[in-house]
Amino acid sequence: MAKKWYPVIDYMECIECGICSKMCPHEVYDMDKTPTPVVKNPENCVDHCHGCGNKCPKGAITYVGDDTGWVPKNKKDDTVSCAACNSNSLKKILIEYMYLDLNVCDRCIGTEEILVKAMEEIKEELYNAGFEMIYRKVLIDTEEKAIKHHFNSSPSIRVNGYDLCETVQENHCGCCSDIACDSVQCRTYEFEGQMYEIPPVRMLAEFILKQAYSGNTINTRKIDYMLPENLKIFYTGKKKINNAACGCTRGCNCE
Ligand code: SF4
Ligand code: SF4
Repeated sequence: MAKKWYPVIDYMECIECGICSKMCPHEVYDMDKTPTPVVKNPENCVDHCHGCGNKCPKGAITYVGDDTGWVPKNKKDDTVSCAACNSNSLKKILIEYMYLDLNVCDRCIGTEEILVKAMEEIKEELYNAGFEMIYRKVLIDTEEKAIKHHFNSSPSIRVNGYDLCETVQENHCGCCSDIACDSVQCRTYEFEGQMYEIPPVRMLAEFILKQAYSGNTINTRKIDYMLPENLKIFYTGKKKINNAACGCTRGCNCE
């Protein structure tokens, strides 16, 4: 299974103070590169540690695999722009990652890793072209949230509100089936005639660039939505397990 927890640096915010690399006792960061924070040994990072993120004066650190609800202490609110001073003239590109689970599901975990990689690859090009990427992770762990976000399939990647996939294609997901104790499907991706369970970096990078250069504003179009049967199965199964009176972590099926 892929490593589930390690820091990701927002280099647009980072001021290269070196606090993160100096404070981490686990050699996650490359000390030869300090004060520039370069994650050299992600496998050394301790699950659920927010040590460096809590110390970062710019709130520039987030974590792959983090669905704890933790937010960087010093992060400025990217969703609010100051019309009066207009100090930041970079055009914002909102990248949203919507998922069912980042603890167990290999596909949610793997897809996020690829998305972060794709953003890393194109951030310089976009910055030079006057764009800034804003990354937002959205855990869709209830029916209510799925309805609120018009969530069709897990995981979903949206750029400025436009979904990477125009249609939903899915196949059986063992991890999410385990979580729900029922048969659950997750998204598959079609790119250049091939099907993938985890999308290739190039597919994501090209989609982000296409949306950035399209001139489209944020998509707020409301479309009719019905919670897909597959997601209903997931949420119902998960709820059953969480409410299991028998104490069995598989919950539902023990007599
Ligand atoms: S989260 Fe903790 S273990 Fe991981 S890099 Fe930061 S300080 Fe080190
Ligand atoms: S602590 Fe924050 S601002 Fe300082 S080097 Fe690390 S990521 Fe950059």
